[in-house]
Amino acid sequence: MTEHINVAQIFGDNVFNDITMQERLPKKTYQALKDTIRQGRELDLETADVVAHEMKEWAIEKGATHFTHWFAPLTGVTAEKHDSFISAPMDNGKVLMSFSGKELIKGEPDASSFPSGGLRATFEARGYTAWDPTSPAFVRQDAGGATLCIPTAFCSFTGEALDQKTPLLRSMEALDRQTIRLLRLLGNTTSNSALPSVGIEQEYFLIDREHFLARKDLVYTGRTLVGAMPPKGQEMDDHYFGAIRERIAAFMRDVNIELWKLGVSAKTQHNEVAPAQHELAPIYTQANVAVDHNQLIMETLKKVAYRHNLQCLLHEKPFAGVNGSGKHDNWSLVTDDGINLLDPGKTPHDNIQFLLVLCCILKAVDEHADLLRESAADVGNDHRLGADEAPPAIVSVYLGEQLQDVLTQLISTGSATHSIEEQKLETGVRSLPEFLKDATDRNRTSPFAFTGNKFEFRMVGSEDSVGEPNTVINTIIAEAFSDACDVLEQAEDVDLAVHDLIKKYAAEHQRIVFNGNGYSKEWVEEAEKRGLPHIKNMVDAIPALTREKTVRLFERFGVLTRAELASRAEIEYETYAKKLNIEARTLIDITRKQIIPAVIRYTTVLANSINEVKQAGDADVSTQSQMLFEVSDLLAETRLSLSKLEQVESEGVKMLGGRDRAVYYRDEVKTVMAQLRVHVDKLEMLVDKEMWPMPSYGDMLFEV
Ligand code: ADP
Ligand code: MG
Repeated sequence: MTEHINVAQIFGDNVFNDITMQERLPKKTYQALKDTIRQGRELDLETADVVAHEMKEWAIEKGATHFTHWFAPLTGVTAEKHDSFISAPMDNGKVLMSFSGKELIKGEPDASSFPSGGLRATFEARGYTAWDPTSPAFVRQDAGGATLCIPTAFCSFTGEALDQKTPLLRSMEALDRQTIRLLRLLGNTTSNSALPSVGIEQEYFLIDREHFLARKDLVYTGRTLVGAMPPKGQEMDDHYFGAIRERIAAFMRDVNIELWKLGVSAKTQHNEVAPAQHELAPIYTQANVAVDHNQLIMETLKKVAYRHNLQCLLHEKPFAGVNGSGKHDNWSLVTDDGINLLDPGKTPHDNIQFLLVLCCILKAVDEHADLLRESAADVGNDHRLGADEAPPAIVSVYLGEQLQDVLTQLISTGSATHSIEEQKLETGVRSLPEFLKDATDRNRTSPFAFTGNKFEFRMVGSEDSVGEPNTVINTIIAEAFSDACDVLEQAEDVDLAVHDLIKKYAAEHQRIVFNGNGYSKEWVEEAEKRGLPHIKNMVDAIPALTREKTVRLFERFGVLTRAELASRAEIEYETYAKKLNIEARTLIDITRKQIIPAVIRYTTVLANSINEVKQAGDADVSTQSQMLFEVSDLLAETRLSLSKLEQVESEGVKMLGGRDRAVYYRDEVKTVMAQLRVHVDKLEMLVDKEMWPMPSYGDMLFEV
């Protein structure tokens, strides 16, 4: 039996949250901190000193010896540098534990080893981290002891953003301003601010750690570079929502406990489509906290897996031919007095505010489809988006029958007079309660789907930060709101102008709406006719970052400057080439040192068998001979492809960075890697399993 857990008691136990602050801070300090947070101002040093002291006392009670500014540089993972609380020894040789306001609000990590895309000259290696007081500090306990973590933004010394968080916070401010501006025009006098609410569903794989360690491709690159399909895949649909096995259940329990202590409201967990694939979703919260929490979720999944002798794979496509992993970014916009601007109500046709917001979002997504696509581009995600799995690489919006009908009425007759009502769902069983079918149906193939009272952006990769996608969503919607306000503020009759705008936007941006099957070939053709961008890979997505339209968008709302955007594009090209280079080298390594030697051993076994069987009598050796020929032919082809790969890889290394190098890796290196893999996977199907030098897909996916 496992011990009893009191969730209510442990929830948020390791977070310096509002309750803790109220309990521990002097009233005056607490009020000052709250005001700063509410008004988005910088914290004054006097308040910071008091907060830091109390935070330190609290953290020490939790066992903390160190503190760290916890930030998200552009590497995709979080970074931290630990400092202990001890101050310089006193005359009596003892030390005091201290933590000042200055240390709380600002840190100066040596930033030279984080990507800056040319923003930071090498002579100015310093960067600084600044506390984001809207995201609470927490204590993380693990084998290394306990550490006070302070969520921070990370900038260069000249103030350029070097992280995911700074632009996200800037975009939230921009969206807040434009939303309130719009609401005032619509007659709202009560709301004072509006924040995006975000809930992120995280997919991942779990495999046995022994298997993981025996696969150098997984160790070095996070995905398998070779591997033949097992006899059974996901065709039986028996894993999705299947009963969770005990070993996995024990893992999930520990993950939940860790997350609850950190104030992450882990809520839903289930098995996913592929064998060994699972999902975890917390309850939604304000965007910057949700983004931090998603990082904590990824860290915790990895850490707890380790303890259970499991390995958590966050890569978007650990196994070719098997469903990959993504994240669903559920997004809505809520005012401080609790109005969700994406809630259509029962009769959307007469909810003018909702319709205007909705049509602004259509405009935003249509005008910046390429930028949204870019925000979900990462190296691993290239194996998912558009590669015969959810969702397609073409950005479109799903509205569902009810909203589509309202918009159609608007466009064709100029006004919407009715909404299709929810229908009763007939279960045919009298004892079951009557269900009302959602008026907005589900569509699993849409990249940007309206799901009841939120949009769900489904393109993000499982390993990627959700910082960038949310920054983009916030900013493009802020722009659409701002454009609408510009029109409405000039209008003599606002009601009439709102009505006209809804109709105009709905008509002009109808092309971004697609309610059908996003996997079909017909959609690809149809989307092309509509002029929607179809961006098939990361290298082709990156230019959207530095396009004039994008620069104008981000500079207009003070979210990112031209220089910051250029640096981000630079980093992405670099990352692309570097990651592919590691993949190529790993494939070379395992082919040369593991696969070819194993196959040679096997051909020797076959040859010996042929000779010995022949000697023993004139028995039939045609099977062995046939096998020997087949395997030897494939071995020769493997060696040829390997030489080719070694050649293209060594040329790639010599190239200078930038776009050309990324293009080279995509077109040359990736292609040869795929060719080599074909031979190796065929060999795996022929060679004695006992002699194959690494666990198979079947071993990894079904023996957990
Ligand atoms: P699904 O059917 O897509 O799995 P869920 O109801 O399980 O949907 O929610 C998935 C995620 O969306 C969760 O993180 C949930 O908290 C979040 N979510 C639900 N409502 C909203 C909302 N109004 N705004 C933002 N996120 C939301
Ligand atoms: Mg979902």
